[in-house]
Amino acid sequence: MAASSTAPARVRFAPSPTGFLHLGGLRTALFDWLYAHHTGGQFILRIEDTDQKRFNPDSLTDLMRSLRWLGLEWDEGPDIGGPHAPYIQSERRALYRQYADWLVEQGKAYHCYTSEAELEELRGKGLPYDRRHRTLTAEQRAAFAAEGRASVIRFAAPLTGTTTVHDAIRGNITVENASIADPVLLKSDGLPTYHLAVVVDDRLMEITHVLRGEEWIPSAPLHQLTS
Ligand code: GLU
Repeated sequence: MAASSTAPARVRFAPSPTGFLHLGGLRTALFDWLYAHHTGGQFILRIEDTDQKRFNPDSLTDLMRSLRWLGLEWDEGPDIGGPHAPYIQSERRALYRQYADWLVEQGKAYHCYTSEAELEELRGKGLPYDRRHRTLTAEQRAAFAAEGRASVIRFAAPLTGTTTVHDAIRGNITVENASIADPVLLKSDGLPTYHLAVVVDDRLMEITHVLRGEEWIPSAPLHQLTS
């Protein structure tokens, strides 16, 4: 919440085109639109389609038609462009890769070669990812790559301390950093996860206020840490 309530806000509605627009999404879009208009700011439509398995091509057309039918016109978006185009995440993949590599260079993220079977074993025991590849040497990484193992890029969450996010409705929300189990930022197919794409785009698109469903509250500390 960098801006005061009277400064022009830049807010985004960022649906994933996996189905038809539902009431929860619509509610978020309505608040976005109202807040942008109230402050004389901008309402941005951004399409979060990085989960290709769940992508539904009809959904995008339906979504834009429904928003327009309700009068929730956007100031920047996939069909009308804007200063931060493109507004469809699958068209921004080079950017996410660049930021993931940059985080690795900074020591804030790392390549992880853990196989699906190994992850399944952890899940079977009810355990989160155990950071096993966080401190691999260059030789160990090369050996895994030579085995033909695919890698993902994971965030190296701080192991100590806490992170506090300020939520305008709920107040401060504090989590132990150690509870953040090094989530994947870039998948082995080179596409970002939601966690990376949302942070990169909110920064690059100069979003001042994030309005979203409360199911995303648990991810907010991670997003703040990676920002
Ligand atoms: N793509 C997410 C969704 O469809 C957006 C969440 C957010 O606003 O950050 O729910």
